[in-house]
Amino acid sequence: MSSVKIPIAKPFVDDNDREAVLSVLKSDILSQGPYLLEFEKNFAKFVSSFGGCAVSSGTAGLHLVVKALGIGDGDEVITSPFSFVASSNCLLYERARPVFVDIEETTFNIDPNKIEGAITKKTKAILVIHIFGQMAQMDKILKIAKRYNLAVIEDACESLGAKYKGKDAGTFGDVGVFGFFPNKQMTTGEGGMIVSNSKKLLELVKSLRNQGRNDGDNWLESKILGYNYRLDEMSAALGVSQLNKLPIMIEDRKRVAMSYNQKLANIKWLKTPEIGNDRTHTWFVYVVRIINGKRNILIKRLAEKGIQTRNYLPSIHLQPFMKKVFGYKNGDFPVSEKVSSETLALPMFVGLEMKDIKYICAEIKQI
Ligand SMILES: *Cc1c(COP(=O)(O)O)cnc(C)c1O
Repeated sequence: MSSVKIPIAKPFVDDNDREAVLSVLKSDILSQGPYLLEFEKNFAKFVSSFGGCAVSSGTAGLHLVVKALGIGDGDEVITSPFSFVASSNCLLYERARPVFVDIEETTFNIDPNKIEGAITKKTKAILVIHIFGQMAQMDKILKIAKRYNLAVIEDACESLGAKYKGKDAGTFGDVGVFGFFPNKQMTTGEGGMIVSNSKKLLELVKSLRNQGRNDGDNWLESKILGYNYRLDEMSAALGVSQLNKLPIMIEDRKRVAMSYNQKLANIKWLKTPEIGNDRTHTWFVYVVRIINGKRNILIKRLAEKGIQTRNYLPSIHLQPFMKKVFGYKNGDFPVSEKVSSETLALPMFVGLEMKDIKYICAEIKQI
């Protein structure tokens, strides 16, 4: 195999980021310092939420939220099979059951019209994933949640900055979770953020991330069972700095997406992304559908040209351990499975050059 010339994703880190992290290392406060509070405050403001709780990863954030909402043994949570495994794993950690509902073929988000059919007496919440940088139909989802008295968790890890009817991802439900792995719209290395308008919920997740301690408690006193899901101060400093340029970084991802859209418009066997009504897209990944059955061959051929692409995403219910535990099989969620068999993520990152976009598109066409 030839080496990767154009990776699928790459973080954008500049001198301001490096200076921010270095300033922490020159101080004595490497955890729970001023950058943590600033990051939480600025982030909540950015998405127009009441407050934030920074955590060590998006997965840690989702886990704390499930715990804080009292979702546990035998409870059911409605969610999408077309996602990254973390969005279901967080339920399994608490022995709750993910109940999958198939997706819309247009946006790849959960199909609101199929949710009611999956609700039972055990259903406690709907865990919505805003996939690839585009939000689900929150109006319909919130209406159903209200009718059945269900909590709404938003996994917004892939959709920071995306809007539905002018309002930010992560701020519609009871609570929203973001992730800052290096391939996301902004990064802290590892890291995540919980946002909510509920002061009570924020206090609880802040305690849970810190061994069950409350603000002002004795360091060695734990009132409830907690975890160490804290975000260190170097990461928080990077978060503050990255957040400052987030609008510019999202704008540049849009530039890349629009260039792809234009150059890939007239290929019979390829479908460019669809954006739903009333929504903006912040392009965590740029995903096309290869509808001639040759997606996997294409991935191989592009790799030979140094272009890294990926089959984003395999359906969660067909992951080996999910099949083993819950007995899922092919055909259970046909739309998700079909989309999983056709989707291809192309290189997407801030600063991806036009000549590289042209090269990628030319190689795709040639195949
Ligand atoms: C990235 C991501 C997460 C969180 O991932 P971490 O690596 O734990 O930060 C959760 N859900 C989805 C859908 C994601 O894409």
